[in-house]
Amino acid sequence: MQVSSSEIPSITLAFIDWRRQNADMSRILSSPRIAIIGAGIIGAALAYAFAKRDVSVTVLDEGVPGNRATWGSFGWINAHRPEDAEYFALRLDSMRLWQGLIEEIDGLPVRLGGALNWEGAERIETVAKALDEGGNTARLVSRARIREMEPALATPPEVAIDAPLEGVADPDRIAEALLIAAAALGAEVRTGVRVTGIAETNDRVRGVETAAGPVDAECVVVAAGKATSGILAGVGVPLPMKAPLGLLVRTAPVPRLSQRIFTSDELHVWQMDDGRLILGEDFGGSPVASDAERAETERRVLERARAAFGGVTLALDGSTVTARPIPEDGYPAVGRVPGMDGLFVATMHSGVTLAPVMARELSMMIFDDAEAGMLARYGMERFGAG
Ligand SMILES: Cc1cc2nc3c(=O)[nH]c(=O)nc-3n(C[C@H](O)[C@H](O)[C@H](O)COP(=O)(O)OP(=O)(O)OC[C@H]3O[C@@H](n4cnc5c(N)ncnc54)[C@H](O)[C@@H]3O)c2cc1C
Repeated sequence: MQVSSSEIPSITLAFIDWRRQNADMSRILSSPRIAIIGAGIIGAALAYAFAKRDVSVTVLDEGVPGNRATWGSFGWINAHRPEDAEYFALRLDSMRLWQGLIEEIDGLPVRLGGALNWEGAERIETVAKALDEGGNTARLVSRARIREMEPALATPPEVAIDAPLEGVADPDRIAEALLIAAAALGAEVRTGVRVTGIAETNDRVRGVETAAGPVDAECVVVAAGKATSGILAGVGVPLPMKAPLGLLVRTAPVPRLSQRIFTSDELHVWQMDDGRLILGEDFGGSPVASDAERAETERRVLERARAAFGGVTLALDGSTVTARPIPEDGYPAVGRVPGMDGLFVATMHSGVTLAPVMARELSMMIFDDAEAGMLARYGMERFGAG
């Protein structure tokens, strides 16, 4: 199936190269070397966090469309699943870290403009209470209030959860923006380079093998999305993953309808800065198995959006059908790879939400030799590694 996905534009690569050459090269040459496999949102967030330390960072990405979740993502930054308090707290922590990154990186394409959710009317009160008690400052809002908040909605629900801390990262631009920030601190970003294996001697990482030759490194982080399990299999490390496909629709730009995300039982939607709507039957997209099903789903999703916004004219810009990288039990796979010194992993769903917290925690594990801490339950040991 054809997957639409944008490449990092060459103008950006030229800029990255310029920033890298102008960074403090003496600092980089005298420090330990880290290779990150993957320049999606996880690899990019790691690169930025690592580049702030006194280390040399190289990001390697094959840049093949269809293998990349970030560019086909809905981009919702959120803390849900309050029934799992630990995981909820991790997501909430990451949401707060996004706020810090917005303040740190000029023009970061992240908007924490809030979300209105009215899925599952029968449990909406329970969910709102749990979200709020967990620290996501959610509250119930009435139809009259929703009309004031979101006048473009044609038929607002009777009640919705207003979660003002939540937001979105622009899936087209977020990884690129983080890579540019990392490059400005000295990170090297190499695209069009396929990693073919991990180089190791006596269970100690030496770097990676690539189609363009070896890259030496004392530490390697595999952040290759759904390809992570294949790369780890090359050094005998098991990581069972699922990769379900999800279809999302983009419209042509329309005048501003909202700054928020809306999530209902039928439609998940937000409006990008350039006016395009990003739409799905669910934020994770719809499963589609054929081109005919794809066309039918696009039509259905567009129709729902037209109805939601009172018949506004919406033209299809395109759709993405992208695999979601999900470790088998649904939780992130992140941390040290037992039995292989210097090897780390970071792959997950909800990577848009979780990238900042993963970057902070992995930095502490790698550079401060910290214990896994809040990442302990997401470690590779649970899959039998080591
Ligand atoms: C339809 C959909 C909706 C989603 N909605 C949300 C949401 O609303 N909120 C949320 O938080 N998350 C959401 N997600 C999940 C989120 O997008 C992912 O968790 C996140 O993008 C994963 O980022 P990543 O960097 O790990 O992987 P990717 O973005 O896939 O990046 C991995 C990179 O590794 C590179 N690579 C792979 N193999 C190699 C190799 N051998 N050599 C070199 N490079 C290699 C690829 O080219 C790719 O660029 C959604 C995902 C999808 C698909």
